[in-house]
Amino acid sequence: MASNGLWIDIEFCTGCLACEVACRYEHGFAIEEFGIKVVEQVLNGGQTFNFVPIPTDLCDLCVSRTAKGNLKPACVQHCLAQVMEYGKLTDLVKRMEEKPRSTLWSPKPRKADRKPFASAAA
Ligand code: SF4
Ligand code: SF4
Repeated sequence: MASNGLWIDIEFCTGCLACEVACRYEHGFAIEEFGIKVVEQVLNGGQTFNFVPIPTDLCDLCVSRTAKGNLKPACVQHCLAQVMEYGKLTDLVKRMEEKPRSTLWSPKPRKADRKPFASAAA
């Protein structure tokens, strides 16, 4: 069975942070925890500017939602610019071939005994 992943078109990501908020709300993360983090990328002396959302090791690809069948991961569902897709890596690789300036991530679900950052620090 093919692994699943997240494909993100960074050319049209607006940096709105809705994916960060949706993920935190879905998983009940503390304010300092991120399942996905939007970073700003500046290249060529500022001539190229991208927002690049990067899933962290807290990302479990929303398995509790996607296992139900037709629910998308929370970040994908709430992406205002609709630049995120969830699916099989084999299909998402084809999206990358079609669309320059996109990224593909294959986060692995954290182990059941792994504690989020805030809990681990306590
Ligand atoms: S797939 Fe789910 S856990 Fe992963 S970044 Fe998106 S909302 Fe967070
Ligand atoms: S919600 Fe979509 S447009 Fe907004 S920062 Fe995240 S990936 Fe980019």
